[in-house]
Amino acid sequence: MVANLSPARQGPQHCPNASPDQQGHESLESIIIECDLYGLKQLRKGEILTSSSDRTPARPTLIMDADFNHRHNPIYNPPMDTDDFSARMLAWFDLHGRKNLPWQTERNPYRVWVSEIMLQQTQVTTVIPYFIRFMTRFPDVSSLAAARLDDVTAHWAGLGYYARARHLLLTAITLETQHDGEFPANLDTIQKLPGIGRSTAGAILSLGMNHRAAILDGNVKRVLCRFAGIEGWSGQASIDRQLWTLSEQLTPTIRVGDYTQAMMDLGAMVCTRSKPTCASCPLMAGCEAQTTARTHVIPAPRPKREMPTRRSFMLVLRNSNNEIFLETRPPTGIWASLKSLPEFDSLDGLKIWCAQRNINSTQMDVMPDRRHTFSHYHLNFTPVLCPVRAIHSVSENLHGGWFTSATMSSLPAPIRTLLAELDMEATRSTHLTIKS
Ligand code: SF4
Repeated sequence: MVANLSPARQGPQHCPNASPDQQGHESLESIIIECDLYGLKQLRKGEILTSSSDRTPARPTLIMDADFNHRHNPIYNPPMDTDDFSARMLAWFDLHGRKNLPWQTERNPYRVWVSEIMLQQTQVTTVIPYFIRFMTRFPDVSSLAAARLDDVTAHWAGLGYYARARHLLLTAITLETQHDGEFPANLDTIQKLPGIGRSTAGAILSLGMNHRAAILDGNVKRVLCRFAGIEGWSGQASIDRQLWTLSEQLTPTIRVGDYTQAMMDLGAMVCTRSKPTCASCPLMAGCEAQTTARTHVIPAPRPKREMPTRRSFMLVLRNSNNEIFLETRPPTGIWASLKSLPEFDSLDGLKIWCAQRNINSTQMDVMPDRRHTFSHYHLNFTPVLCPVRAIHSVSENLHGGWFTSATMSSLPAPIRTLLAELDMEATRSTHLTIKS
């Protein structure tokens, strides 16, 4: 199988119409040495490596012409067939790939799945402590399926995008009740599970079961866009389709798990968003963006769109025991099922709520606005601090209760930050009062 690379990479302009030094090689010997380095078939000088008989002849895999006398073409870009591509990636992975991340030890589909979900929109360094805590509490599908939602969200608090935590629980329950607690070894079936897209399903199959399946996460998109010189925003449907086709064609039949990890690692460590270190990239010899000096424009960024802004008021009721009143949010919508401050669309609405509960709002302190940005809108919220003397000013109910900083859990990150700051201020002013 030969990769169906972009039109720009096909045709005679990519064959040897330039000298090796235009590609950063001083001689053919250096290219041969590079082939050796990456464990590729060694070429004799002047040898033309063509497609093997079982490959489509549509795109010959020319690597080198006999005499390098085509210096008129400024672009020398030897094409790379799928075998070359994966061989280079695997050789690079053996030397430089990451092999000791927590989810790579005792690797199984469950650990791969949880790590993949956590890594969506989140950096590896942030995920590591969360993953370790999560695995200690929920070591397998059964323990997760038996968990309460608030226990799962408590282990997720701070990672954001809480729908991911709900989907984890739902999927664990589905696996436990319908698939004997195991991931089915079938791409379509895995994709039907809550919160699992095509790329995550591919990662579970390839990394967790070593089954041949392609992935296309953000890092891999960037590598493939640059390698094949695909312009435009990768979120565009036509480009997404093109990238999936390419990813599927390039995925090898052996060492699929290592190859998948290699692609992820290359995107994270070498082919980074800004300033990719092409000199240390195993794909450099065939990379369109590098050869044409377009790594800074490929891939194109997501087109900018104006994000709407939502406004709200958060009531911080603090009683004389320095406890805060928190409510459990509804099971859908933002911060679903997490504990948070009572939220209102207007200051009047907040005051009415207080009046109905005999809370004196004359001592309210309307604090400066804060902003939290979700993926699709900004939330500008105004904290309103309201001291109450007695605990029974607001009765505890099914959805709400009083919490100290030590007993709070499952809070959205911006609310946790706000309450931590208020707690610190309260502690400081207590100290000042005692001193004076
Ligand atoms: S050569 Fe550079 S741009 Fe091309 S894939 Fe490698 S790191 Fe990315």
